[in-house]
Amino acid sequence: MKTIGLIGGMSWESSALYYRQINEAVRQQLGGLHSAKLLLHSVDFHAIETLQRAGDWAAAGELLADCARSLEAAGVDFLLLCTNTMHIVAPAIAAAVRIPLLHIADPTAQAIQAAGHSRVGLLGTRFTMEQDFYVARLKQQGLQVLLPEPADRDTVHRIIFEELCLGKTLEASRQQYRRIMAQLVRDGAEAIILGCTEITLLVGAADADVPLFDTTALHALAAVDIALR
Ligand code: GLU
Repeated sequence: MKTIGLIGGMSWESSALYYRQINEAVRQQLGGLHSAKLLLHSVDFHAIETLQRAGDWAAAGELLADCARSLEAAGVDFLLLCTNTMHIVAPAIAAAVRIPLLHIADPTAQAIQAAGHSRVGLLGTRFTMEQDFYVARLKQQGLQVLLPEPADRDTVHRIIFEELCLGKTLEASRQQYRRIMAQLVRDGAEAIILGCTEITLLVGAADADVPLFDTTALHALAAVDIALR
């Protein structure tokens, strides 16, 4: 079994999901008392969020590249960055190490295509929805991406940072996400990407009329596939 390196803490609420889901998948596939071999480098999210707000992606990239280097030095075989947003700096992280970085958008796009969908709605932080690093990667893999309108993007973003990353799941916010997902479906989305690793804490399959693609679960399962290959 290969050793998985996780760069997490963004937020730790979702890193905890990765830890559980990776271990559950290893137990399911190998049985008995098997569990995953992994190292988690968990950052102080306050520092990352401050750099995000300042738009200082170079400093954020350097900070996360240091995490990647330390995980590589500790002997992991490949890396996962446990946040969609910070894949803005995936190139800086990948350049800092010799081991591979499994990009969160790739298993997501593959799962959507395997299910036969091509037009998808995307929910995530404003960075993920509006900067090109994520949408472009999905487009390269043949997907057409629909976004909520600007006011709804603000709502989705605010709920992530003010509630989900703090472990709060409020019914009023679930209703907002349901409304925003229903609008994406009316706009033509055949599926919706939960493109932020905390959104799965708030909504699930019962909250939309189209399939939801949970990036946390897809990323975690893809890591297990690689680890056990
Ligand atoms: N975990 C989130 C994501 O998947 C947001 C937190 C962050 O800004 O990294 O995008």
